[in-house]
Amino acid sequence: MIGYRNYLNNIPELNFQEIKTSEYINETLTLFGIEVHKNIAKTGLIGILKSNNNHSERNIAIRAEMDALEFENGNKHACGHDGHMAIVLGVAEFFSKNRNCFEGTIYFIFSPAEEEGAGCSEMMKNSFFNSLEIQEVYALHNWPDLKVGQIGISEGAIMGGDNSFIIDIIGMGGHGAMPEQTINPNNYIGMVIEKLKEIENKYNVILTPTNITSGKSINIIPDLATIKGTFRYINRGNEENVIKDLENIRINNISIKIHIIKGYIPTINNKECAKICKKIVGDMVGVELIQINKPSMATEDFCYLLEKIKGCYVWLGSNDETNSHKLHSSSFNFNDKILNIGFKYFRDLIFNRLPIKLFKINPQFSDNLIFLGFIQLATDYTLDMEISDVLSQINGVGWRIKKLPFLGGYTDITKDTFEKLKNELKNSASGFGENIGYGKLSSLSLACTSMSFTLGHKILSQELKKGYDVKINDTTTSILSAIEAISIKLKVQNINISLLTPYIDNIHNKYQKLMKSIGCNIIVERNLNLTNDSLSSSVTVESIEKIIDEMITINPNIHIFIIVCSALNVTKYGFIDKLEKKYKKYFITSNQALLWNSLKITLPNEMIHLINKIKGYGMLFNL
Ligand SMILES: [Zn+2]
Ligand SMILES: [Zn+2]
Repeated sequence: MIGYRNYLNNIPELNFQEIKTSEYINETLTLFGIEVHKNIAKTGLIGILKSNNNHSERNIAIRAEMDALEFENGNKHACGHDGHMAIVLGVAEFFSKNRNCFEGTIYFIFSPAEEEGAGCSEMMKNSFFNSLEIQEVYALHNWPDLKVGQIGISEGAIMGGDNSFIIDIIGMGGHGAMPEQTINPNNYIGMVIEKLKEIENKYNVILTPTNITSGKSINIIPDLATIKGTFRYINRGNEENVIKDLENIRINNISIKIHIIKGYIPTINNKECAKICKKIVGDMVGVELIQINKPSMATEDFCYLLEKIKGCYVWLGSNDETNSHKLHSSSFNFNDKILNIGFKYFRDLIFNRLPIKLFKINPQFSDNLIFLGFIQLATDYTLDMEISDVLSQINGVGWRIKKLPFLGGYTDITKDTFEKLKNELKNSASGFGENIGYGKLSSLSLACTSMSFTLGHKILSQELKKGYDVKINDTTTSILSAIEAISIKLKVQNINISLLTPYIDNIHNKYQKLMKSIGCNIIVERNLNLTNDSLSSSVTVESIEKIIDEMITINPNIHIFIIVCSALNVTKYGFIDKLEKKYKKYFITSNQALLWNSLKITLPNEMIHLINKIKGYGMLFNL
């Protein structure tokens, strides 16, 4: 992405003149094999990427602006739009290479003339653009008021609306020495400005007089005084009221005329979409979610997309000790450190909005390939990403995921839900037996602790195995198997365990019993007592780290730290590595253990050493 950024940074162009920029984006997207539609609102473009397995009617758009700003010594990308374009190109590149990772259509919108000219609004007048029927649209802006690693989200307005006003005070001119024969408009300027202040306070808007003109010579009373200014607001209802009140300004019998020049409307996020974005950001390792309650009074032409299409616009923190320049300043330079954060945000957002129903990657697989199946609960948000991340590190292994629908409280599986689950399980298992064209199913793993406890391993195997000769695995079995492998490696018989579970007492108790039964000492334990899965996924990585800190301080003689919950975000990219490095202990998490054990029981002997090559998921893979 740095390469894209540098290239774009060198060709800054002004509104509707983004010709070289447009050409470069066209070439780059075409290189990725993405269909490009050019010349939308002069220089705007749209890249269209459909997933390989395109059974879904769903689509999502992400947008970057293309224009630069004009300075005395030439054009410059002083708002960081070069960085935004680089991020969107990075996302386009990633998904163009992973067309099996999502289901639906991704639109990459490159809009001209954000700063002046409402490029987004112009694009929306294009009939091709409208024919796409975009369902959701997202954008980000680098934000020097937030730190690198922070992302700011508002559930409503995030940027203001901007109109201009011109107030003519019409008097009757004459000789400066004979004011009694005239109506001097200058006498009323102060009163009009006072009225502006009143309206400002009444509606909580900004009405700033910026330019006052009246008269030319010292001894002539002019006919006219004019006050010009900027009118900024958040609430569109207020906008109308303010205009009404401005039109109703009456001072004595003087004639006052108001003229409003409409500018950008406020940028207002869709609440539901903003909540989704907050969830995505909350799940990102090393990223802090900042709740924005006070919108910026600056404007943004993304407002027009959000007026018609639901979506969300976020601030990507960009301030650090090396880069704190303000937007639109002549010294501004986009902070390259945030390219990757922006990329991950959009990537995870697209994974969330265009989820795969059937997961497959590397369609060049042949018949004799090893092929792993996974059954994942709907509330487990990260497993599919982890599976693709881990298994793509091994050549010759394919996989498919079936997501079980949300059936209500997994936290407490009743007899009713048990029957439902069994049926779902059967359906899921039979789905894996279809001829899917690349390889034979070798193993099937169930990614759910509570289910494997409730159904029991034997029943589980029976249900899953029906008709297929495959190896069966589940989360609990995997965790136990991982403990065993580590104790062999450490040459310790009675392993000291620290156990962290997120919810449901009985799961915690069952793990206690199980671990004791295989000779483990649980020396520190903690149950977060969260009431459900979605709560557990809202627990931040930082807070988990804090809890781990506390637990390790209580008794540092831990061999293995076990975190039983995939939804706790702990298994996400690199986090286990980070914990192991920091605490010098083995860490086991549900998803990590499940993936490791699935490979261990599935791979043939000549391939088993490939497990050691997997990076980013802890020492368990390197035993
Ligand atoms: Zn700008
Ligand atoms: Zn900008």
